Amino acid sequence: MAISTVNPTTGVTEQVFEAHSTEEVERRIAHADEAVKILRGTSYAQRAEWMKATAQLLEAEAEELGRLITLEMGKPIAQSVAEVRKSAASMHFYAENAEKFLADTPLEDPSVVGASKAWTTYQPLGAVLAVMPWNYPIWQVIRFAAPALMAGNTGLLKHASNVPQSAIYLDTLFERGGFPAGSFRTLLIGGGAVAPVIADPRVKAVTLTGSEPAGRSVASIAADHVKKSLLELGGSDPFVVMDSANVPAAAATAVRARISNNGQSCIAGKRFIVHTDIYDEFAAEFARLMGELVVGDPMDPATQVGPLATADGRDELAGLVDDAVALGAQVLVGGSAPQGEGYFYLPTVIAGLNDEMRLVQEEAFGPVASLYRVRDREEALQVANQTAFGLSSALWTNDAAEEQWFLERLEAGAVFINGMTVSNQELPFGGIKRSGFGRELAAEGIREFCNLKTVWKA
Ligand code: NAP
Repeated sequence: MAISTVNPTTGVTEQVFEAHSTEEVERRIAHADEAVKILRGTSYAQRAEWMKATAQLLEAEAEELGRLITLEMGKPIAQSVAEVRKSAASMHFYAENAEKFLADTPLEDPSVVGASKAWTTYQPLGAVLAVMPWNYPIWQVIRFAAPALMAGNTGLLKHASNVPQSAIYLDTLFERGGFPAGSFRTLLIGGGAVAPVIADPRVKAVTLTGSEPAGRSVASIAADHVKKSLLELGGSDPFVVMDSANVPAAAATAVRARISNNGQSCIAGKRFIVHTDIYDEFAAEFARLMGELVVGDPMDPATQVGPLATADGRDELAGLVDDAVALGAQVLVGGSAPQGEGYFYLPTVIAGLNDEMRLVQEEAFGPVASLYRVRDREEALQVANQTAFGLSSALWTNDAAEEQWFLERLEAGAVFINGMTVSNQELPFGGIKRSGFGRELAAEGIREFCNLKTVWKA
């Protein structure tokens, strides 16, 4: 794919960028490696000061940067601005908490290991490569970079090829906030040029947020070089609604869970699994609300659903729906791409699914909700766990015993009860099964790219 900004609302190519040459990539890796030596010698207090100054830049530039996000990937403008503000908040969070999260831990009784003193201490690894997706072009990067830099690591960013202007903005952001030059550098390269960067001895680890094929490739190259990797991959999250749930509240939340970010969120509720006793009520309300959503220009504040980010993404989504319909599924609302320019797809609810349909197993990365009718909790669990993914899940119930039963059995990195999954800087984030491994955010996230050094003293 060319490294370019293509406005998904119009399909017009706004700007094309030349990929960095091998020499330029080498220069930037060297820069990040040199900055490791400087950053390592700085205190948490110093890094926190720079991080807060960087967050203030984001806050001051939120409106302008929000417009750039919407131009490059099409999410409604209010969500773009909110993404920038959330990113700034997480920078403040790590500025304030990094030292506490990475504090030394003494062994209470060192005599059991024959020492006068024993403890663990977290140390940075060095330059870490981040391979990032376009769906949250600022947030995905900051949720890696804020903890990484606070820990004393430096960052190298390989961003998705369709958000180059966001990538270029991030290239200078941390230096503008006061961090030593080279603490964070963007590499403008395609996916095919990532392997030698992972292999480079100055690059100590890699984190990838994206699809399963990309994750498999990046993690296997890292494994070849015995380097740590962290994978945040796709999801097809279940949203289970049992008969004790508040149905109108569940339906309204289900809509938000499905269409946020134009439906292109890894943690979106994608499969709605509903108890038969409340199925008809839920389905009618859900389809009604999905059908009422305002689809249009994402720069217009009244718009609730904008275009998909790429033509390929739209075609892939349409292919999943068409395949299901051809095999007998029923469309309750939507089910097609509207006429006209841009990569739009109508908010869709589809029911009557069976195992022959790709939609049952694959991730629908757009505003398409699959609806399942189940007779009891055993069947609900079976449908919830039947995909290869295990990112997050939502459970709607007012029965305490049922809640406990599900949370012990749902195969997912998180369960949100009577709500929808959102990422929070205070809570660890990540998946199991083919949704990846490792955790971002909270204390667990900052520890991923550290050397936990054990110290023993006679
Ligand atoms: P993608 O195609 O996998 O791209 C993600 C990044 O990986 C891009 O920078 C891409 O570069 C790069 N890439 C692709 N193939 C590669 C390869 N073989 N080697 C090295 N790098 C490679 O995914 P996407 O379409 O941008 O994003 C959508 C996917 O991300 C969905 O599955 C979604 O669920 C997942 N996601 C997961 C999370 C999470 O936290 N778990 C969060 C957001 C999104 P190019 O653009 O140059 O190809």
